[in-house]
Amino acid sequence: MTPQDGNSGESGKNGKATYFDGYADRRRAVELVFGPALEIVEDGDLLAAWPYAEVRRLPPPGGMMRLKALGAPKGARVEVDDAWTRAEIQRHCPLLAGEREAPNLEGRKRLAYGAAAAALFGAFLWGGVPRMAGIIAPVIPVEWEKKLGEATDEEVRKTLSGKSCAAPRGAEALAKVSKRLQDASHLRLPATIETIESKTPNAFALPGGKVYLLSGLLDKARSQDEVIGVLAHELGHLEHRDHMRRIIAAGGTALLVSLVFGDVSGGAAMIVVGNSLLNAAHSRENEAEADAFAARTLEQIGRPAKPLGELLVRITNEDGGSDTLAILHDHPLSEARLAKLAAEDKGMLAPALLTDAEWKALKAICD
Ligand SMILES: [Zn+2]
Repeated sequence: MTPQDGNSGESGKNGKATYFDGYADRRRAVELVFGPALEIVEDGDLLAAWPYAEVRRLPPPGGMMRLKALGAPKGARVEVDDAWTRAEIQRHCPLLAGEREAPNLEGRKRLAYGAAAAALFGAFLWGGVPRMAGIIAPVIPVEWEKKLGEATDEEVRKTLSGKSCAAPRGAEALAKVSKRLQDASHLRLPATIETIESKTPNAFALPGGKVYLLSGLLDKARSQDEVIGVLAHELGHLEHRDHMRRIIAAGGTALLVSLVFGDVSGGAAMIVVGNSLLNAAHSRENEAEADAFAARTLEQIGRPAKPLGELLVRITNEDGGSDTLAILHDHPLSEARLAKLAAEDKGMLAPALLTDAEWKALKAICD
């Protein structure tokens, strides 16, 4: 996604800063765009958007202004030296010097909701729903995301209808994989991975941190690295809030109204949302980003990225006709995704995550 030309704050001027994304130990010279949220932009690419009400000032080394955001990855920060930029930040961020974890939660929430509602409305007036989805998703407060996640979870469960699988040794193996992946990827929100019995080889993520792994995927997988790769990919969608984009794009104004008035579990909007999560596709860019996230995470744990691509290609070839598989999304791209993942593959630098016995137990989690 690229930042929105000519619509960057009232003054039209952007700030200057240094950004650390919390993953790589790399300084990035960025522009700060004062849009619906504090947008962090590098060479025209939007790297992150921080809701103003979530921006906090960190203790300064010397006279520099250092910032973090409550919902951002651990270690992500912005450093500002320039006086104009500092003044703009002071002006836009109401809780800059705010409490660390917000004792006055209600007040903070109201402010965050107010800011998000204003952003929703502004972006809607300006760009219509599809364009809006990309702008809005990053600025939705975490509380909304969780609430939306609980509501969508109900819809998705009704649609899936299979039992939740938790054979003890399989569940233990899955918990081990989940912990290793999350430790390596520093997610904004903790994720929960649940296996559901289904013949469909699929996996997908919901807002608020839920990942579903369908047992059909375990059946199709030839190695644990294939399954681990898929889960790492889904964590990438969670981290990038891609499901929020889809929900907003699919739910449109009905969902927006529900969101703004705090009734996210209400009626028709949720049915649209449930369908969109199960059937609609992420954009190519979002897929590529989730694959890149998976490759980085797998590198951290010393495991290969290529098996994820191999599984995608195999399911595409076997499954041909179906276009409802969330992990595939866009079939012709599977070969290209495999090539990219193979190129990013750093090899097997560490032993397999699971022992053979644990991998067998995971495969049999529904038995
Ligand atoms: Zn995906």
